[in-house]
Amino acid sequence: MPATSMQDLVALCKRRGFIFQGSEIYGGLQGVYDYGPMGVELKNNLKAAWWRSMVYERDDIEGFDAAILTHRMVLQHSGHEATFVDPLVDCKNCKSRWRADHVKDNTCEKCGSKDLTEPRPFNMMFKTTVGPVADADSFAYLRPETAQGIFTNFKNVLDTTNRKLPFGIAQIGKSFRNEITPRNFIFRVRELEIMEMEYFVRPGEDEAAHEQWINTRLNWWLDQGLSRENLDFHQHPKADLSHYAKATTDIMYRFPHGLEELEGIANRSDFDLGSHSKKPEELGLVAKVLPNTDSVTKLTYRDLDSNQDIVPFVIEPAAGVDRGVLAVLCEAYTEEAVGDSTRIVLKIKPHLAPIKAAVIPLARNKPELVALAQQIKNSLQKLGLGRVLLENTGNIGKAYRRHDEIGTPLCITVDFETLEQPAATASVTVRNRDTMAQERVLVTELASYFQEFYSQT
Ligand code: ATP
Repeated sequence: MPATSMQDLVALCKRRGFIFQGSEIYGGLQGVYDYGPMGVELKNNLKAAWWRSMVYERDDIEGFDAAILTHRMVLQHSGHEATFVDPLVDCKNCKSRWRADHVKDNTCEKCGSKDLTEPRPFNMMFKTTVGPVADADSFAYLRPETAQGIFTNFKNVLDTTNRKLPFGIAQIGKSFRNEITPRNFIFRVRELEIMEMEYFVRPGEDEAAHEQWINTRLNWWLDQGLSRENLDFHQHPKADLSHYAKATTDIMYRFPHGLEELEGIANRSDFDLGSHSKKPEELGLVAKVLPNTDSVTKLTYRDLDSNQDIVPFVIEPAAGVDRGVLAVLCEAYTEEAVGDSTRIVLKIKPHLAPIKAAVIPLARNKPELVALAQQIKNSLQKLGLGRVLLENTGNIGKAYRRHDEIGTPLCITVDFETLEQPAATASVTVRNRDTMAQERVLVTELASYFQEFYSQT
């Protein structure tokens, strides 16, 4: 069963400042979304969790951050210019356009006509011009995946880190795909962010590494709070493989609109490094875009055992940040009966929560109370566990409702008792989001309480 309906989720995201339509005040740009004050925290936390698990907690992966603007030759050699296409059909009646493999019963979704054109390939890469002169040779692509920036820098990383196989290079960044029909909120967008890691292994060791990464990635999603029942695998049949792939397994998530891809884990073989090491003529590319592209950099690895240059194979786990955020939100969204009313609560894992704690002075118009709350907020903020918020609205009920909906694990209320007691015995009320249990905690012990809470989650 889907965790929730997409409608409820979209409403929550707008109401509480997670996600807005891009360029909304001008009618919106289709397939483009902006992340609000809560959304940016959640998204950053998810990316940080990925980076920690890839780059910091392992000893065989380096980080990277390549440019978005990409030379045409890169995407010619990678095969994207020729094959990064989706099949497009036109409705002859209403002129709308659809992705052929998404069309049901050969019927236009907009007007119901069955008069559709034959499918034709549509290249999904965005182009832009670089420099002041816009001519045939001055265009560059916005990258459709982050991977190529890693492949073209393979030698740079190898030479500067002295890595031995197997090792990986990880990157998180924006990518652009001119999807024919963006849909399902942030599931299919035109400007997306990908968390991608290229793991280089010796040829022959690729299949075992592929299996390992499928397991590692599934476990990571479980650690982000997704439940095993909502996750599944899909192995691509040979006929459906991308041009570069020897094998691909997707991790699927049960989104409200169906079981769909969350992450793809591909065995890209030696396709990309091999292809970038070839001359354009060898690949049948006639268009020499710039004169300085004649020299070919060999993207190989010197194997000291055999004393030969080898082209490593690559295993690539590639996960969508936006789809990850959506899955986490779907999983966490909960409606609970409390007495006669319903409480909406985002039961998100604490390390992903946008706000780590809200500090709430019981009354807004009492400057000493607010000052004490501010002090407590500042001291918790300094611990570096993420954003702590001073919630100074003066309405405790509303504050709890808001923080339930944005998934704040702890609400700390500062009341008159806190103010009146001597500093050594002054205490605050700490409310737990999931159990709604409240307990008094000494102000002097709040920092360790807070640290202890986050070290366990
Ligand atoms: P799909 O088949 O859904 O179009 P894909 O197989 O083309 O996706 P990959 O090239 O494997 O996707 O990209 C890696 C990951 O990036 C995907 O698993 C997905 O999470 C994410 N992704 C791809 N396209 C989009 C998009 N248009 N909007 C949001 N996320 C996307």
